[in-house]
Amino acid sequence: MNGDICVQIIGSGHSGSTLLDMMLGGHSAVSSLGETAYLRYNTNHETESDYCTCGKRVMECPFWLAVDAELRQMLGTGDRPALPDFNIADLRVASLRDEQGRFINDINRKFPFRSRLNEATLVLGIPPLRWLAGKVSPDVAMFREIGRNLGLLYTAVRRAHGTPIIVDSTKNPGTFKNVWMESDERDIRFILLVRDGRAVTASRMRRDGYSMLRCAEVWRNEHLKRMAASATARRAKRRIVHYEDLATDPRGVLEGLCDWLGITFEEGMLDFRAESHNVGGNPMRLRKTETDITLDERWRDELTAEDLATFDDIAGRMNERLGYGA
Ligand SMILES: [Zn+2]
Repeated sequence: MNGDICVQIIGSGHSGSTLLDMMLGGHSAVSSLGETAYLRYNTNHETESDYCTCGKRVMECPFWLAVDAELRQMLGTGDRPALPDFNIADLRVASLRDEQGRFINDINRKFPFRSRLNEATLVLGIPPLRWLAGKVSPDVAMFREIGRNLGLLYTAVRRAHGTPIIVDSTKNPGTFKNVWMESDERDIRFILLVRDGRAVTASRMRRDGYSMLRCAEVWRNEHLKRMAASATARRAKRRIVHYEDLATDPRGVLEGLCDWLGITFEEGMLDFRAESHNVGGNPMRLRKTETDITLDERWRDELTAEDLATFDDIAGRMNERLGYGA
């Protein structure tokens, strides 16, 4: 359909992606879905972190029930709910959750279900190569199906809610590239959400107790991956948003993004606590009482001179390239 746009938000955790997702979703032409990588678990599990942001279970929420009805029609699956079995994420990742249903963040553990062939064919972005890889590797075949199915999910959301613009904040550059290569989406854009690397590493050190050395390496490598994934996606349009701008001038950032998406800014976008129906993501989406956006700059007090020197050594140049000087 004309005017249909798929927006993927890409960035580190704790860089405001949930906030941006909810703000964009406040526009009448936009449906923000949150992190669709978690939708299938959320649909099948019932811990509090699996709930839709509206406070209901996914399969009791009117927004997702309407999407499910469209999807059933598109797939011709009759009366049985479609979402719980719809392959839009690698279900093996579910074993990485703790008892409360939260995903365990362990940056030192090797991700157990990585398919190097899948990642390589995504980075290269050559369709015949990926087709061939899918013939020899069940993992690649599964990921290809996920890319196609995400496109179908976005179509079902548009049909159910009449919103031409879909926002997915899964944040993973692989998901963006997969949708770009496999789905029928024609206008795919991505927002690279960046935040001062010193703030991201300080947040990770505080939360998980890792050393600056390790956190800086992880942050730099994550950024390299994002750049590699986007390099060959020529049809996609890209926009960089700085978390610090979003926190201090949300209106300015949102007006710029609306312009880019060809829609007119709506005041409701600033009221990011209005009812929304996204899934997965940062627990802040479920905290109804947090209505202020505050710029979190704790890193300025927390990082020692030694930490800052270590960061500079490993990731200083990358940070500068993203616009964060000394
Ligand atoms: Zn809901």
